[in-house]
Amino acid sequence: MAEERKAFDVVVIGGGPGGYTAAIRARQLGLEAAVVEKEEQLGGVCLNWGCIPTKALLKQAEIYRLLQRADEFGFKVGQVDYDWTRVIQRSRGVADNLAKGVAYLMNKNEVQVFKGRGRISPTKQVEVRDGKGQVLETLEAKSIIIATGGRPQTLPGIEIDGEHIISSREAMVIPERPESLLVIGAGAIGIEFAYFYNAFGTRVKVVEALPQVLPREDEEIAAILDKSLAGQGIELETGARIESVEKKEGGVEVSYTGKSGTQVEEVEKVLLAVGVRGNVEDLGLEALGLRLREGAIPVNGRLETSIKNIYAIGDVIGAPQLAHMAAAEAVAAAEFIAGQERDEIDRGNIPSCTYCQPQVASVGLTENEALEAGHEVKVGRFPFMASGKAQAAGDAEGLVKLIFDARYGEVLGAAMIGAEATELIAEVCLGRKLEATYEELLHTVHAHPTLSEAVMEAAGEAFGAAINL
Ligand code: NAD
Repeated sequence: MAEERKAFDVVVIGGGPGGYTAAIRARQLGLEAAVVEKEEQLGGVCLNWGCIPTKALLKQAEIYRLLQRADEFGFKVGQVDYDWTRVIQRSRGVADNLAKGVAYLMNKNEVQVFKGRGRISPTKQVEVRDGKGQVLETLEAKSIIIATGGRPQTLPGIEIDGEHIISSREAMVIPERPESLLVIGAGAIGIEFAYFYNAFGTRVKVVEALPQVLPREDEEIAAILDKSLAGQGIELETGARIESVEKKEGGVEVSYTGKSGTQVEEVEKVLLAVGVRGNVEDLGLEALGLRLREGAIPVNGRLETSIKNIYAIGDVIGAPQLAHMAAAEAVAAAEFIAGQERDEIDRGNIPSCTYCQPQVASVGLTENEALEAGHEVKVGRFPFMASGKAQAAGDAEGLVKLIFDARYGEVLGAAMIGAEATELIAEVCLGRKLEATYEELLHTVHAHPTLSEAVMEAAGEAFGAAINL
């Protein structure tokens, strides 16, 4: 193909939730924008191999488990069975639909999409290259946004072969359900897949290096999750060290040292879920002299890298590596580029959600973090057992825990576990954005019966004003 030159205000490298959002926001602000994407479909890992297809799978696991409880709800159903191929296919269909939706949005917003690998030349143009490294186009860009995302981290000496030792990508399309699975890492990915496979009958073991599951979550909430998942039949080994992972005929042998010494497990598959690292390679960054730190691109509060007019957003800039973080950074970067007056993103108010059942969600400070930050703390808890809506739905496991500053009553954080916790957290995010006090949460009339009443009641409980407890 002949090399062409094209000029844009903003060229975004990467078409995931960060990249496509940045391009749309740039267009809304009157800037000419282009996206360079190396994959066939837009949407990045989130839409194609992450958040969305896994949420489809998790919903299916939830339905399967609910069907097994049919009798409790007064239904007589025979043996409930599933067709594994269709379980997987549905999730792929959902991902494909959404990726097409992104292509539609690019069209609608007149964002030009270039298919190929983006690379920044030393003269700060964006070259679009094919798989062989051939330059297809050279794009002039007043500003460049690097939104190249991340990929699964590996551990020294353990190679992901995609067959026996897999990453989340393979885990969502295994053609036949494995009989046994050992998950390394009890972060969001590890826990979500552990829940999914266990629900469908796979023998699941999770090995985590740190002392609790979901190590970044509130200790009390993580302990409740640990108990609940153990009750569902998942074996959890926290505070354990992986000694070796070796492929054997038809499976993998894993040796780890935990509380009861060194154990050896033979399993069909091992899922490596030990974090995500940024895609910083092959972008021309070394030649540009763009500063990297621990495999990520450090940015300032305006999402600027060490080089003028080059911005970076999303997984490639480091934790928290969440799609909603990337999208928020995308909007901010586009607005800074357009010269808008706006606040920097408040990184202390980013929700974190894990979509196993019971769901886990949190925002702001945990109880320990609030104490360490020197706050005099008041904690309010409201268990879903005391919620009429949760009882009616047959889903009364878990609780809402709110953390307040005792002097001013300001809500500092929330940690929740239970049905729809990932939806309920939004109220506290808004509360924190508006610096809401316990009284404002308590005096906001919540519809009855709803699960959201648990937030209001937890605010009351912290200050001796819960009604239904
Ligand atoms: P993570 O960093 O959240 O969790 C990785 C876990 O692996 C940690 O608990 C860590 O202690 C553990 N670990 C690391 N090395 C280990 C070792 N040698 N042995 C045992 N355990 C070890 O990463 P993740 O779960 O892989 O997810 C990657 C990113 O994607 C995260 O930023 C995560 O938040 C995000 N994500 C979010 C969601 C969601 O929002 N629901 C879902 C999936 C992924």
